[in-house]
Amino acid sequence: MERPAPGKVEDLATLAKLDDQVLLEELKIRYSNHDIYTYVGDILIAVNPYRDLGIYGNEVSGKYFLEKKSANPPHIFAVADTAYQCIVGYGGRIPTNQCILISGESGAGKTESTKLIIKQIIDLCRGNTQLEQQILQVNPLLEAFGNAQTQMNDNSSRFGKYLSNGASCLKREQRLLKSRYEDLINAMDLVGFTDEEQNSMFNIIASILHLGNVTFGFDDHDAAYVQDENGDIKIASKLLGINCEELVGTLTSMVTFTAGEQVKRNYTQQRAEDARDATAKAIYGRMFGWIVNKINQLLAPRCVNLNKKSEIGILDIFGFEHFEKNSFEQACINLANEQLQFFFNQHVFKLEQEEYIKEGIDWNEIKFVDNQPLLNLFLNKPIGVLSLLDEESHFPKGTDASFVDKLNTHFKGNSYYVKSQQTKSTKFTINHYAGKVTYDAENWLEKNRDTLPHGVMEMLQCSSNDLVKLIFRGQITRTGTLALQARKSSSNSLQILMEKMTSASPVFVRCLKPNHVRAPGSFNEKYIKDQLLYTGMLETTKIRREGFAVRPSFTEFVDKYKIILKTKLYGDSLADVNINDDYWLQGRKQIGSEN
Ligand code: ATP
Ligand code: MG
Repeated sequence: MERPAPGKVEDLATLAKLDDQVLLEELKIRYSNHDIYTYVGDILIAVNPYRDLGIYGNEVSGKYFLEKKSANPPHIFAVADTAYQCIVGYGGRIPTNQCILISGESGAGKTESTKLIIKQIIDLCRGNTQLEQQILQVNPLLEAFGNAQTQMNDNSSRFGKYLSNGASCLKREQRLLKSRYEDLINAMDLVGFTDEEQNSMFNIIASILHLGNVTFGFDDHDAAYVQDENGDIKIASKLLGINCEELVGTLTSMVTFTAGEQVKRNYTQQRAEDARDATAKAIYGRMFGWIVNKINQLLAPRCVNLNKKSEIGILDIFGFEHFEKNSFEQACINLANEQLQFFFNQHVFKLEQEEYIKEGIDWNEIKFVDNQPLLNLFLNKPIGVLSLLDEESHFPKGTDASFVDKLNTHFKGNSYYVKSQQTKSTKFTINHYAGKVTYDAENWLEKNRDTLPHGVMEMLQCSSNDLVKLIFRGQITRTGTLALQARKSSSNSLQILMEKMTSASPVFVRCLKPNHVRAPGSFNEKYIKDQLLYTGMLETTKIRREGFAVRPSFTEFVDKYKIILKTKLYGDSLADVNINDDYWLQGRKQIGSEN
């Protein structure tokens, strides 16, 4: 066989020579040829092109309909198509649940990949046009409310965090924003939000923006008061359907009852600012939760037409983050990514090698970097970062500094934990699989508690705005902030993923970021190499090469090789025999028992 020229290898698991440099070279040449997709056996690598390559149109997508993977160049559409073929049992397969796990740093292209997979799957199950449109519109909708601009990604998945992108870019990109706004309205209409609900949603968003503009002064007794030169607090309270004086009171003071007497305690300026932010976050967080629930309700009953028993799950989380200053949010996001990496390791290395041993295959073990100790560092009870944080948050005298002190004491000598060089610092460093990240524990206790300022809940429950009233119905839940959502997902996701894994075949998409500056065409070798290293791509390629990356069904096997059988064993007389999986399974068993 002729060896393909560099950059023409579509599956790196077939490379004859293999090391990190070879992988890097192949990806680099392919990237410069605009071939951003490459297989490593059944895993897809996607390098973010940061430009429109014109490779997602209907003509391309059609080529990937119900095709064999090898029939076309690597593509995200092929991943979607294969998953679809698997759930519907195409080509004699047994229908199985699929879960597509998409990983990569913040800005690597996970959400874009997710959208493309959804688009392709919808194209594949054409027929219910309304449902297609609705599902496609869910993403822009969730993105509009759930994403934010960060240093690493203009459209970073945040689900739950509120950041006002609006104000400053409004002037610069007015036209773009106007058309995005129209798209959003269109999406909300299609998914099924009523005009009234949409109005309420925009009122709430506007109230949050106005609330954010409220500033505080302080008097001779250090008591905070609202400086409301532009009337923001009046507008905010009107939009929220609450009394303005009551809002002012709740943001600047707390009323308690001592021995039956009502005692008013004034907040300091700082405390008032915290109260303002916590209120805004709670409103946004609860509204987002309501939107997600609503979408699920609106779409769920009609989604059953695919195949009742099989489903495709697609996981797109917030990618690994490392900024100059990293707080609780980054720790939780990075922990969630550690969980995903752990899951990848489990599936690609651990279970795979166990399978070979079980099958009695002569096998040289391939080592991988196991991040279990890091997960233990965070999740162990009672001595883990999160447990210690909970403990300190409940401890009346606990401070961010005393929390870090405890970490320093307990994790002395732990190779994943590095104490700060400075004394009395609230900083510490964690050796994540994707690199070192220095965190600052300032405000972690407060963020972890995430309690609403006194009285806010009651005030909003009595709002004259139905939606505000609705979202604040029920108990205070700890889901208001990004940090707590990320924490929740990182603590629960392992279990959920493990459950999925037993019932679904995981498919991995590895998104890589070619440079730090979001530039098209620039391939930063060092940066890509780092990502290849920490994701264990060399080991993955090895196991896919030396292992059994391709597992065709018996039907596929017969299709390909029956020609040899015919001539060698039976002559041409069997040309028209319909050979199916059962036949071959039986045959295999027989051969097995004879051997
Ligand atoms: P986060 O973890 O912050 O949510 P992410 O991995 O989801 O990050 P995306 O939002 O999917 O990152 O991608 C970031 C940007 O990269 C996109 O807004 C888009 O500009 C560009 N991009 C990603 N994938 C592609 C692609 N296949 N073609 C063209 N541009 C892309
Ligand atoms: Mg994203």
